[in-house]
Amino acid sequence: NWVDIEGNITFKNVSFSYKTGEKILEDFNLEVNKGETIALVGETGSGKSTIINLACRFYEPTKGEILIDGVDYRKRSLLWLQSNLGYVLQSPQLFSGTIKENILYGNLDASDLDIIRAAKLVNAHDFIKNMEKGYDTEVGEGGSKLSTGEKQLISFARAVLANPKIFVLDEATSSIDTEAEKIIQDAIGKVLKGRTSFIIAHRLSTIKSADKILVIKNGKIVEQGNHKDL
Ligand code: ATP
Ligand code: MG
Repeated sequence: NWVDIEGNITFKNVSFSYKTGEKILEDFNLEVNKGETIALVGETGSGKSTIINLACRFYEPTKGEILIDGVDYRKRSLLWLQSNLGYVLQSPQLFSGTIKENILYGNLDASDLDIIRAAKLVNAHDFIKNMEKGYDTEVGEGGSKLSTGEKQLISFARAVLANPKIFVLDEATSSIDTEAEKIIQDAIGKVLKGRTSFIIAHRLSTIKSADKILVIKNGKIVEQGNHKDL
């Protein structure tokens, strides 16, 4: 990485509404220290993905700031953020292109061996190898030729290859089969080490490993603690 960061993230009095109007977050505060794993739980529509999308800067706060190592991320370039933050989203989108290109995603230094190593770490290698053209398989527009679980695994491999200090995971829910979910579950444990992580997980086993669990309701933290406290 061309800039070394610690990976502390702070949401400071963050308010947010989508263009459609309604306030989703109001004066939301959260401090995540470097290396910590934070799990967000809460019912559907409570705002978990919104928090994560803000952390990734797909959206920016309407009011307030999001600081990375104490600096508002809007003062940094997108390239800086891209090299320090990796994500796997709930509805993952891939680029029209091959699996290999999608894992590489601009990572110019990586060799084929690095790509395979990343794919193996997240348990994606087997399904990729079984495809007709392996790593050279075209994924279709947005990844339309692959299942949600497969798209998540490829996003995962991309994140592992990029080796970011901050890692964000919004686990898919219904659209993912149990086999894929088990595979992803297993990968999560390996990927979180040494990173600041935000995870939205639906399985208790994933949530259990978090340093802190936040229960989100109507865009607010209504309870927090570790697995034993809650
Ligand atoms: P789930 O568990 O179903 O993934 P969630 O906790 O991730 O839910 P969010 O997706 O953050 O919930 O949604 C929070 C609120 O924001 C909901 O009321 C939702 O309808 C609304 N919302 C989410 N995305 C958008 C969008 N792109 N435009 C407008 N409203 C949105
Ligand atoms: Mg969500």
